[in-house]
Amino acid sequence: MNKDLGFNTVCTHFGELEDTQFKGAVSPIHISTSYAFEDVAVKRYPRYFNTPNQEALNKKIARLEHGEAALVFGSGMAAISTTLLSFLKSGDHIVLQRNLYGGTLNLVLKEFDRYAIEYSFVDIPTPKAFEEKIQENTKLIYIETPSNPLLKITDITAIAALAKQHQLISVIDNTFASPVNQNPILMGIDIVIHSATKYLGGHSDILAGAVIASQTHIDTIFQLGINFGGNLSDLTVWMLDRSIKTLGLRVKKQNENAKKIAKWLNKQDAISKVYYPGLKSHPDHDLAKKQMKGGFGGMLSFELDTTINVTAFLSSLTLIKSSMSLAGVESTILSPSKTSHALLSEEERSLRGISDNLLRLSVGIEEKKDLIKDIKQALKAAKQTS
Ligand SMILES: *Cc1c(COP(=O)(O)O)cnc(C)c1O
Repeated sequence: MNKDLGFNTVCTHFGELEDTQFKGAVSPIHISTSYAFEDVAVKRYPRYFNTPNQEALNKKIARLEHGEAALVFGSGMAAISTTLLSFLKSGDHIVLQRNLYGGTLNLVLKEFDRYAIEYSFVDIPTPKAFEEKIQENTKLIYIETPSNPLLKITDITAIAALAKQHQLISVIDNTFASPVNQNPILMGIDIVIHSATKYLGGHSDILAGAVIASQTHIDTIFQLGINFGGNLSDLTVWMLDRSIKTLGLRVKKQNENAKKIAKWLNKQDAISKVYYPGLKSHPDHDLAKKQMKGGFGGMLSFELDTTINVTAFLSSLTLIKSSMSLAGVESTILSPSKTSHALLSEEERSLRGISDNLLRLSVGIEEKKDLIKDIKQALKAAKQTS
């Protein structure tokens, strides 16, 4: 297929399977787990990431992130764990930013000791801080930007260069930005990971993950992948492929909505802080502008001031749903101190800037005026009278 297709054309058509039997307009689903033997080299099997629908989706996702190849997994965590353990063995070392998705942090803290894999965390993820943690046995650098929930930005180009300089493999979790807003491979990163449960799926009904990299790195991850078996079923592969057709449109709208809402929140007396990389007041705004070429994303956080009762505010929202996950077409909100970061002590939370009145909003594709109206009426309803 044509090499210079635009983003939305790739989303809609790239890798699609022809329906040779009925000439249908969309890719047929091939759900067979068993295929006729033709040749040892092309043995098709879902756990080998090579059924027709898996291959089509792998190609599309690789193309969206400008990588040579990709693999889709049964979850973001399957993609993350398989990738990390593909390149780390006992005695090796990895440097990670501390501000990570909770599941990733848990994987490192709960599992790596058992494999005698060493790790160091960087609190403030500057290139210098990463460099200071690099040891003789370091193999990987791992970052995530924008981060959850305060949308802090790590300098992708600088980290990629640092990794190259020390001959390390650089890995990024690009879930929050999505391929619409940020393409780390173009900035020198080796491996990009997505929880496809989030923006790639986008409708809060698919659990999936993806890894994009050079063919060589993908071959390595494939070898462990077939042993770990964290594959995605073909029905879900097809659903994800279908969902990605609207990825560009969805995220564009989410970018616009989030920016507008962030600006509006910033002007409200009852809101003491707004965290959104698209705001000039965000400490990493210039860096975000440099590396988030498509937009600043659909995630934002804000703090209610003491005149607002947090619980009452959440329960007064009618359109915006309280929900644990993110990135769906519907707007959702959560309290990090009560959910994603509940296991941390209050002191640890406050060290990370996560107060009890911080809320994280995943902005959907609804009309922004309706979302603002909802927030406005909830603020009014939750005003403390004392
Ligand atoms: C949700 C999420 C993950 C984990 O993905 P699952 O699909 O739930 O396994 C990893 N990283 C980020 C940034 C996420 O938001």
